[in-house]
Amino acid sequence: MSELLPLIDSFGRLHNNLRISVTDRCNIRCFYCMPAENVEFMDKQELLTFEEIERFVRVVVPLGINKLRLTGGEPLVRRDLDQLVSRLAAIPGIEDIGLTTNGILLAEQAEALHAAGLRRINVSLDALTPGKFKQFTRRDGFEKVIEGIKAAQRVGFDPVKVNAVSVRGLTEEEIVPFGDFARNTGVEVRFIEYMPLDADNAWEREKVLFAHEIIERLSAEIMPLIPEGNQEPHAPATDFVFEDGIGRIGFIASISQPFCMSCNRIRITADGKLRNCLFSLEETDLRLLLRRTGSDAEIAAAVRASVAAKKEGHEINTARFIQPERPMYSIGG
Ligand code: SAM
Ligand code: SF4
Repeated sequence: MSELLPLIDSFGRLHNNLRISVTDRCNIRCFYCMPAENVEFMDKQELLTFEEIERFVRVVVPLGINKLRLTGGEPLVRRDLDQLVSRLAAIPGIEDIGLTTNGILLAEQAEALHAAGLRRINVSLDALTPGKFKQFTRRDGFEKVIEGIKAAQRVGFDPVKVNAVSVRGLTEEEIVPFGDFARNTGVEVRFIEYMPLDADNAWEREKVLFAHEIIERLSAEIMPLIPEGNQEPHAPATDFVFEDGIGRIGFIASISQPFCMSCNRIRITADGKLRNCLFSLEETDLRLLLRRTGSDAEIAAAVRASVAAKKEGHEINTARFIQPERPMYSIGG
């Protein structure tokens, strides 16, 4: 009976959203996420198989999980990802499956992913010129990402969103081009404040370009941004539209306006560790349960215990903050 109670933590937050990392590998090297060189990736046998991921999702659906997002590392480097999407889309109770990708391999996979049942795509793109793209990613590939975004729109993904990490000293000159991009393409651009999850441990508060600064700049240089009505209460992004109704811009202001009290997410890493927060310092090893003797009831109990132990918030803005050992690419953003 207790398996059927929803996943509510000690602060009354209901969890219905699971982010699944399918790999820690990536084909680029964004400075705010990965080290430049000598990345130590997980061994293949450490990764949850598609069967194990599917079983896990089937166990958590009765606990109230109905939204999934596939992420990584770069999820499109995991072979046959469309087959995982098909398996997950077929699970009764799953209402929504999204994918966050850097877009490099999207043009070649968009059609198969759409056919498999994926409908929502977020493409990460921090700049609108090849040179600035390389400053963020330490790799070439800007044109491929643009091709990927066009392919996603062409095959019918709706919405297609672009995520841009906002970094002081780099993002300023991208703000107006991104505003124009949103207006010209119909893609919603979402600025994400740079968070302390980089492998190089180089994050400082001074390096974050805050949402309000971007709003002021867009409003002054393009036209006023108006907050959208009917925002989904658990969405981390606050969405705006330009005054004339053309062009949507969102902000994930994790640093300047933390949204921890409305968080509804849990995450499983590619090697099967359950995390109740991006910034948590503890994890629950579910791979052991999934791979060995764990019954569905034991797995469900472990998920429930992890949610029950969730902390109130991330504490980035306090002296108590400790950056997690895992950088973003190995957690799954
Ligand atoms: N590789 C895929 C991608 O880049 O879209 C999926 C994984 S990536 C870790 C997920 C998201 O996290 C991306 O939008 C990325 O920009 C964002 N991200 C990574 N490190 C970040 C950081 N330190 N602060 C804010 N966002 C970050
Ligand atoms: Fe790769 Fe995504 Fe991390 Fe960039 S943010 S290095 S694309 S995993």
